[in-house]
Amino acid sequence: MIISALYALGEEVWRITNRRQEKKVDCPACRGIGRVLLWDKETYSCPVCNGGGIVCTFPGDKIWRVDGPITITTISVHADTGPTEYMSRKSRRSSGYIYQEQNLFATSAEAQAECDRRNVTEEQEDGQPRQQEGE
Ligand SMILES: [Zn+2]
Repeated sequence: MIISALYALGEEVWRITNRRQEKKVDCPACRGIGRVLLWDKETYSCPVCNGGGIVCTFPGDKIWRVDGPITITTISVHADTGPTEYMSRKSRRSSGYIYQEQNLFATSAEAQAECDRRNVTEEQEDGQPRQQEGE
């Protein structure tokens, strides 16, 4: 039995994702101050932003976009079931994200082409026009 993976350890590949991009905005409850005034005329740490004055939002629709490149540090091949998975330990979390082979490409051009294809295909599937950020 020969088990093969499309990409190799140490190889730099381009990842695509449809995860919404995080956007940090002033907390709407305290208007970015981090404290709120209550009925006893005292100010308290804002319960919405925990006093930080900033909250994260995920505006816009899920749209495929190129997010990379990443360097492969681990390869997991599931011979019986699921797809081949790759990990990159240089990513933000120390444990590393898991990337499926179907979302990885050798060049940024190939990655962008697949994003364009999936965005058109998925738009046709749900029949809804995509919302632009800020609407
Ligand atoms: Zn707040």
